Amino acid sequence: MSVPNTLQCLCGTVELSMRGAPAARANCHCRSCRDFYGTSVWSATAWAADQVTISRGSVSAFKHPAKRLTRHFCTVCGETMFGTNRLGMRVLPNSLVARACGGELPDALKPTMHLFYRHRLLDVQDALPKYLDGWDGPTAAL
Ligand SMILES: [Zn+2]
Ligand SMILES: [Zn+2]
Repeated sequence: MSVPNTLQCLCGTVELSMRGAPAARANCHCRSCRDFYGTSVWSATAWAADQVTISRGSVSAFKHPAKRLTRHFCTVCGETMFGTNRLGMRVLPNSLVARACGGELPDALKPTMHLFYRHRLLDVQDALPKYLDGWDGPTAAL
């Protein structure tokens, strides 16, 4: 399965176009992502800002009240199209990718690690490294 060139929100108003490959692919268990995206695990890919463009429609933005995070969402259906992290990268939810790919993630976009596993709500049984904090810190024993 190949990486899609475009992603659409649930109602079809907004379309994103991507080019190239993401810089990082992860399942993030941190409290900021949990609160900000409203999910126990934020499973996503991070791209340089100029690799992801809005090719149809427009999005509204919500800035986190305390953190350097912004969520960009469709104003019609409310779906999050991407977040912007503190590095200015655009972070795309894997749920959008899976919908564009018949319910699966292409291998090239599958997560390669768990981040902030120390703060998890859900235990995960898989072979991926589970960094207790950021990617440059210690990992949990499998
Ligand atoms: Zn929409
Ligand atoms: Zn996070």
